[in-house]
Amino acid sequence: MRQPLIAGNWKMNGSKVVTAELLNGIKVGIGDVRTSEVAVCPPFPYLYLAEEMLSGTAIRYGAQDCSREEDGAFTGQVSATMLRDFGCTYAIIGHSERRLFNAETDAVIARKCQMVAAHGLTPILCVGETLEEREQGRTEEVVARHLGAVLDLPDGLNLLAKGVVAYEPVWAIGTGVTATPEQAQEVHAFLRQRVAEKDTEVAAKLRILYGGSMKPGNALELMAQADIDGGLIGGAALKAADFLAICKAG
Ligand code: PEP
Repeated sequence: MRQPLIAGNWKMNGSKVVTAELLNGIKVGIGDVRTSEVAVCPPFPYLYLAEEMLSGTAIRYGAQDCSREEDGAFTGQVSATMLRDFGCTYAIIGHSERRLFNAETDAVIARKCQMVAAHGLTPILCVGETLEEREQGRTEEVVARHLGAVLDLPDGLNLLAKGVVAYEPVWAIGTGVTATPEQAQEVHAFLRQRVAEKDTEVAAKLRILYGGSMKPGNALELMAQADIDGGLIGGAALKAADFLAICKAG
């Protein structure tokens, strides 16, 4: 049985005050949400607040990215060791916004997953097609390539055994347009099948989250699908009440 994971991706939002309020709102409200695992991913500068406020609670936290390098002369980057230092459990890797705005390639993303896992963190590997790719009937080809960048590594199965995958159709991110439960389930089942072709046990245990305008109103139906094991939540994770409502659906 896979425990659902609800992870908030706070992106580049907030301030010290706003982040502390949001962390507190989730911490106080989480009480009766115990079936899902819950995690939040604030911007790097606010990880210290997550460490201060969430340590000793069941709420996990993580980062939105991680350097592929160990340490050294890499201005502006943050290493996996540093994330561990702040008590992170997760690192989101290969989010479509990083693929787009930071020109991250599949090879870079695969390396980051290796780096994160080597330091005992859990990568949340994001995969997903653009609207154009979906309209061209290339959804499976694209998500297979994104997944394959990690799955086909010599240590790929091991990485996925330790990791989480998030299917995030780019056309659904921040647009208010959500994939239908059937559309999402179809891709989730396809992803799990790709892993099962290599190892059925790893596939059966792999948590595959859905991300893309998940809200309190659609979370239940999405998460009721056989292969949807939780959500990666953007906009709706910025309001404690909405995020908690999604957690309760999980
Ligand atoms: C995301 O960016 O990971 C995401 C799912 O965003 P939103 O929920 O706002 O679509």
